[in-house]
Amino acid sequence: MSPSQLLKRATAIGERFRHLAITVLVVLVVAVLLHAEAVLTTGGAVDRSMRYDIAMSGMNGRVDAITARQRLSRYAATGDLADAEEAWLFYNILASRIETWSSGSFGAFVSRSPQRREMMEDLRRDVAAIESDYLALPDQAALRRIDQVLEKVVGIVDRIGGEALTENLVEAAEIRGTLVERQRLQNILVEVLVGIGALLLLFMSLQARSLRRARAVAEEAAREFEFAARHDPLTGLPNRIAFHDALEQALSSAEGRGEGRLAVLALDLDGFKAVNDILGHASGDDLLRSVADRLRRIVADWHPRDVVSRLGGDEFTVLTRVSGGEQEAAIRAKQLIDGLHEAHALGGGNVVVNATIGVALSQDGEGGAAMLQNADLALSHAKATGKGRVQLYDVSMRADATRHRQIEEGITQALEDGDIATHYQPQVDMLTGRIVGLEALARWRHPVLGWIPPSEFIPIAEASGRIVEIGERILEQACRDTLSLSDDLPVAVNLSVAQLAREDLAETVADVLLRFGMPASRLKLEVTESVVMKDTRRAISTLKKLKALGVSISLDDFGTGYSALSYLRSFQWDELKIDRSFVRSLESDRHSLSIVTSILELAARLDIGVTVEGVETQQQVALLTGAGCRVAQGFLFGAPVPVSDLPALLARSAVRSGAADPTVSSDALAAARGLA
Ligand code: C2E
Ligand code: CA
Ligand code: CA
Repeated sequence: MSPSQLLKRATAIGERFRHLAITVLVVLVVAVLLHAEAVLTTGGAVDRSMRYDIAMSGMNGRVDAITARQRLSRYAATGDLADAEEAWLFYNILASRIETWSSGSFGAFVSRSPQRREMMEDLRRDVAAIESDYLALPDQAALRRIDQVLEKVVGIVDRIGGEALTENLVEAAEIRGTLVERQRLQNILVEVLVGIGALLLLFMSLQARSLRRARAVAEEAAREFEFAARHDPLTGLPNRIAFHDALEQALSSAEGRGEGRLAVLALDLDGFKAVNDILGHASGDDLLRSVADRLRRIVADWHPRDVVSRLGGDEFTVLTRVSGGEQEAAIRAKQLIDGLHEAHALGGGNVVVNATIGVALSQDGEGGAAMLQNADLALSHAKATGKGRVQLYDVSMRADATRHRQIEEGITQALEDGDIATHYQPQVDMLTGRIVGLEALARWRHPVLGWIPPSEFIPIAEASGRIVEIGERILEQACRDTLSLSDDLPVAVNLSVAQLAREDLAETVADVLLRFGMPASRLKLEVTESVVMKDTRRAISTLKKLKALGVSISLDDFGTGYSALSYLRSFQWDELKIDRSFVRSLESDRHSLSIVTSILELAARLDIGVTVEGVETQQQVALLTGAGCRVAQGFLFGAPVPVSDLPALLARSAVRSGAADPTVSSDALAAARGLA
């Protein structure tokens, strides 16, 4: 049961418990009222039972009358005055008793029946009347009258007493019935109360049980929450927070333990994005889990408190203890790279990955955050200068990082101030020496940092996405500048991955051409293999749209990638630019010339133009023209220059081609080198 369900149940039980408590209270009040009623009724019943003394009271009067009669008859027989006096005494007792009979319960009983009332009236009258007869004693007539009245008294009292007895018997039965009924009611009340008490106990124990369970679930949830807050859900490894804590703790307790120095290894998988893109996210997740398992297994052999964590994406970190300093840390990092390089068996097959690792060791006075940052800097450095290896941190990287940030943050200002300018490098027909095209290349003079080479700021702008704006700016400048020239030269503009990834690239280019009145045929767009490799299908479709505008498309840096030939078939390229690495080694490496020759043959067969880059010497020109190459770009013919230098350059090239001497002086070459 979930915590919320449990809470709902506990609340429902609490609610029921409250209802029950209210019900019990109401029942208790009713019971008390009923009980009070029962007590009153019982009191009434007891009252009524008191009427038994009516009969008793009457009985005493009867005894008085009989005693008075006995004394009188004894007096009549003996003439003893003492008897007469006793008879008089009992008469008086009887007379006063009769007086009391008119009130109290006896009186009430008598007055309920008119007949009894009449009888009592007669009696009172008769008894009162014989008082004078007592005074007339021993007169025989008076004696007879007294005796008659007393006899009558006995009869009446007997009758009333009998009636009272009968009535009392009936009433006694009624009272007994009432009492039995009340007792039954009280029994029921007691049973109900006992039952409710038991119910209350049951509910209390139920409530206690549900509360106990709710607490257990809440504790479990809290434990799970605590785990989730500190672990990566995909791999189960500690996350950034947990790693940070472990690092700080290790730093504060490492000294004095003789565990050596602490090392943080920041690890990044090379080409993980491609796995995600090509094999799908499920395989990407499988790979991350497999990597996590392998790291865990390798690190388990090092030190019991060493920690592997996943910071996110394909970034992992390892905290380890080394007694042998940087060397040992580097060896361990290498061990991780080698371990990860063994094929990972995923659902869809085996995958091989490379990893790059930045290593930072603890230094006096440096916290965990700084250590992690150092390892990250080393990692970034390694990724920028050749992946798949271990890079130890050194302090110069901090300066690099600061410069990197300055460059990244300076782009906005540079675009606003027009600090990012476009220079043009001529492309020359080696046979005639004539300039046949220009390549637009970005130049940035930073107010503080000075000239920043594009090889430095372009990747930074690419990473932050700002290359899109820079690229558009260069394109606009290239159009404006080319149109200002007297010759109808074509201009080549470089495109970066981020630009090619945009859906609206073709529209943007068409818009710029339209705005500047630039014929599409004069624009050439250069893309590198890596640009196409990122997302081949989408890139090709965008390139087709561009080509449909009438723009030429060039494959730049040809030969530096590893599957260049497949791209030759995937798109109808207008031009290949042979990378300058082949030209550089032309004179020293025989293979370079054969490769260039093969590329030229292949391109001719596929009807693709070729430009060689980086031509710096006459010997290179000789070798290249010998192999059938015509168009070249390089410092030998001119370094990139601002648009203002182009007219003079073009004029010289026209003269040179007229003179049919394509070569340039060594002075010009030296000047070009200086400019670049
Ligand atoms: P890239 O497209 O291959 O451009 C040619 C590079 O080779 C230029 O470097 C150029 O100055 C240099 N170069 C030309 N001739 C010689 C030579 O004889 N010897 C040597 N050693 N180098 C020569 P740059 O201008 O520094 O540009 C470097 C890279 O930056 C370019 O390589 C290009 O990939 C990128 N880049 C430059 N401008 C832009 C731009 O506007 N947009 C984009 N996306 N990338 C650009
Ligand atoms: Ca280029
Ligand atoms: Ca190039």
